[in-house]
Amino acid sequence: MAATNMEDHIEKILFTEHQISQRVSELASQIALNFTPTKIITNSNNGGALLSSSLSAPVVVGVATGAFLFLADLVRKIKLPISVDFVRVESYGSGTVSSGKPKISCDLKIGVTGKHVILVEDVVDTGNTLFCLIEHLKSKGASSISVCTLLDKPSKRKVNFELVGEGKFYRGFECPDYFVVGYGLDFAELYRNLPYVGVLKPEMYS
Ligand code: 5GP
Ligand code: MG
Ligand code: MG
Repeated sequence: MAATNMEDHIEKILFTEHQISQRVSELASQIALNFTPTKIITNSNNGGALLSSSLSAPVVVGVATGAFLFLADLVRKIKLPISVDFVRVESYGSGTVSSGKPKISCDLKIGVTGKHVILVEDVVDTGNTLFCLIEHLKSKGASSISVCTLLDKPSKRKVNFELVGEGKFYRGFECPDYFVVGYGLDFAELYRNLPYVGVLKPEMYS
């Protein structure tokens, strides 16, 4: 493909750079809050007991390649010590329809036994990828598994994945049923570097 201006390939923008940035800040705050150990609260009801056990630093795991920008922006806004790693899962190839059989083609480097894991995804569509990853992390003995996805397409769900332990589901935006690109998401490995999420012009698929 000729290196023309990418913006000319976009039919419409669904989530602007500004909307994404604001939402990423909100998600980072929620995550930080949930991983901040509860302070000792001294009152007569609890006798000054520690209300919550201290939480170990979470491992934030990006699903490569699509989550790379989201993860980079998200972790810079989480004001807690965290570890960062990536996992690579293949399920789409270069098309726009999921193969339904994701395979882990590159595993984590960091051990997650007994740790709190936050899986960071670009988009949850059928749920196959997350189902596969959660089973994998469970087998490694993660003590909790949360999911933080920029986009969620609940109308496309085929597989119900279950979070583990006190894991939570964080999502940026509910996404209408379009094949979207930008902010990490590709079509045939292109358009990941768009700063927003949008829909390609139909002629770009041919
Ligand atoms: P699932 O396994 O839930 O069906 O799909 C998850 C993966 O499919 C996502 O991580 C993403 O890589 C890809 N995917 C699903 N929907 C879209 C989409 O609208 N645009 C792009 N570029 N990738 C998608
Ligand atoms: Mg993905
Ligand atoms: Mg892709």
